[in-house]
Amino acid sequence: MASDMIALNRSLPDVRLEGCKTKVYPDTLPNTSIVIVFHNEAWSTLLRTVHSVINRSPRHLLLEILLVDDASERDFLMKKLEKYVRNLDVPVRILRMEQRSGLIRARLRGAAATKGEVITFLDAHCECTSGWLEPLMARIKEDRRIVVCPIIDVISDDTFEYMAGSDMTYGGFNWKLNFRWYPVPQREMDRRKGDRTLPVRQIWQCGGSLEIVTCSHVGHVFRKATPYSFPGGTGHVINKNNRRLAEVWMDEFKDFFYIISPGVVKVDYGDVSQRKALRERLQCKPFSWYLENIYPDSQIPRRYFSLGEIRNVETNQCLDNMGRKENEKIGIFNCHGMGGNQVFSYTADKEIRTDDLCLDVSRLNGPIVMLKCHHMRGNQLFEYDAQRLTLRHVNSNQCLDEPSEEDKMVPTLRDCRGSRSQEWLLRNMTLSA
Ligand code: UDP
Ligand code: MN
Repeated sequence: MASDMIALNRSLPDVRLEGCKTKVYPDTLPNTSIVIVFHNEAWSTLLRTVHSVINRSPRHLLLEILLVDDASERDFLMKKLEKYVRNLDVPVRILRMEQRSGLIRARLRGAAATKGEVITFLDAHCECTSGWLEPLMARIKEDRRIVVCPIIDVISDDTFEYMAGSDMTYGGFNWKLNFRWYPVPQREMDRRKGDRTLPVRQIWQCGGSLEIVTCSHVGHVFRKATPYSFPGGTGHVINKNNRRLAEVWMDEFKDFFYIISPGVVKVDYGDVSQRKALRERLQCKPFSWYLENIYPDSQIPRRYFSLGEIRNVETNQCLDNMGRKENEKIGIFNCHGMGGNQVFSYTADKEIRTDDLCLDVSRLNGPIVMLKCHHMRGNQLFEYDAQRLTLRHVNSNQCLDEPSEEDKMVPTLRDCRGSRSQEWLLRNMTLSA
């Protein structure tokens, strides 16, 4: 409703860094075909995307717009849409998938039909801002192997207010391979010598690179939940995609991922031989190379002693982060063997870690909370004694212990006394990380 009340060609604030507004780009830049895929998208968000492209792209750079309909069921997306786009002053073509195919197949269908020198993909609920296209095309002109991405601003899904995205965060992935925003690492700041108008690197295994061009801003409506269903169930589709991803690209690290997400191993993932052949043909580098050289700030530990549940010998319960967030107490619960909240890694740095959070104790006798891992040892340093089975918090010289009578769901830290309640079994434990 909020979107429907706002003009399709509304103006937007200029949220660029000052240094971006005065940049000069080459006169001749590659032109582009814009591919927008959609499934049951609302009229106003879809058309506002189209209008923002037309209004804010230099006409000579914008060759055409391709709308790929991934088997939508809404009536206004049929004849009414076809009629509407005929009156726009940029060529707009509509392609229809015969059946629901998912965004990547839909994008590939669109890509195959493009005539431009560069293919630009947009979601169907975006708004392009002034000067969004030139820096993207200029970067590709400099090096055609670079895949570029703008800063993604936030269009509120409640009010449609436009809010600048940050150039200090970039996209990464967590233990479950979910997309997350993380701070741009200091080494990337250093590499750009403090000039925030220069692109932020993210790079791939096959020789190309992926950059966020910080002078380009495109807004996107981030939804809290996916508004449509997926054939076979959302979980199944995501598990299958992740399984294929892990099988083709992650080498030995796929085992790490499967311990975190046991559900992924159960899906039938079809045939990946063509994908593996592609990887072979392009002579892509191993995933370990990617983690080491390109994504060292990844939350996936390169070296670790153990991975999986941490079980108390006396109570037979397991450490459990209970789905809690940063700065909350770590919990303990019946072991369920389903990975998820009960997966911890005792890493080579001797931290007890789940994704980006580490067990952290700053006072005698606890509490034991989950804080962002800082790799500085300190309050996050635990010594595992593989004979005594104790996890000793080094700074306090106390041992991880079962819960107290008052709170049966949170483990405690007590003076080490050799009791069974202070013995812990670490799943998949080895003595060398
Ligand atoms: N989409 C599609 N087919 C699908 C799922 C999504 O064509 O089966 C389109 C969707 O309309 C959108 C784009 O793909 O334009 C990305 O999907 P979405 O916006 O839901 O992803 P998010 O931005 O929430 O990650
Ligand atoms: Mn989207």
